[in-house]
Amino acid sequence: MVTLITSTEELIEQRKNHPLEIGFVPTMGNLHAGHISLLEEALTQFKTVYFSIFVNPKQFGPNEDFNRYPRTLENDLKLIEQSTSKFPNSEVIVYSPKNPEEVFPVGKTFTLEVLGLSSVIEGKQRPGHFQGVATVVWRLFELIKPKKAYFGLKDYQQYLVIKQMIQDLASPIEIIGMPIVREAEGLALSSRNQYLTPDQKKDALHFYSTLQKISNLLDGKKNNLKIVQDFINHELNNPAWNYLEMRDADSLSDDLSNSQKITILGVYQQGTTRLLDNMQVELS
Ligand code: AMP
Repeated sequence: MVTLITSTEELIEQRKNHPLEIGFVPTMGNLHAGHISLLEEALTQFKTVYFSIFVNPKQFGPNEDFNRYPRTLENDLKLIEQSTSKFPNSEVIVYSPKNPEEVFPVGKTFTLEVLGLSSVIEGKQRPGHFQGVATVVWRLFELIKPKKAYFGLKDYQQYLVIKQMIQDLASPIEIIGMPIVREAEGLALSSRNQYLTPDQKKDALHFYSTLQKISNLLDGKKNNLKIVQDFINHELNNPAWNYLEMRDADSLSDDLSNSQKITILGVYQQGTTRLLDNMQVELS
């Protein structure tokens, strides 16, 4: 069963009716198989799953795509229904606030920032972005009080920021990171892919093939880091890269000397569309 809730008052009321242990999937809607993989994982673990659909103004910069971000609630609900029906006796509560004030009441201001992790790489390119993410996720956690919350590794830095937030605030919520869902040729699914022209979409395949190439060149060996860095430096001559970097997979430090796992993080730009992807590689 799927229930749609559009006000915070109803959400609080609804939450009172449920047993303590629920799963939670926060999204901005315009759902695709990546989002649905989070929902279905949550449904395998919990009878009741809360699923939020909220285009959070706080995580968009002044020149970003907040106004044109695709809002497709009707279709999103159909996809949620389809998934939920595969799990007999399960219930999904969709919280899609009718306006941002439901989430951030006027006059009540607070901002949450995870220092350090929020200001590097993607955070450097999008000042304020991770504050917006941490603030909305914490607010939703407070309202929904989940046992576990599900995030995609597609937004790897976001996943680390949320995990750090939970640790620093000594919250018992468990953060589950789910694998990136890709199209057959490798492009990571994203609501922003629909902004791409057919030519841009074709060129975007270069992103995944570059991540794979780096992973193959590394071959899990620390000794190969130098060769790979040379390859990345050469690759960066392609102006489509906003950035392409190797970082420690836990701390995002650029000092890899003690790293056991690294992450390769990039943004490949097509027109005004920033495509974000990453890959993790264990080192020996
Ligand atoms: P968004 O609606 O873009 O804010 O994403 C909501 C959640 O879905 C986040 O935890 C994302 O990391 C996750 N997500 C988005 N795209 C994918 C994907 N291709 N594979 C797995 N998870 C994804």
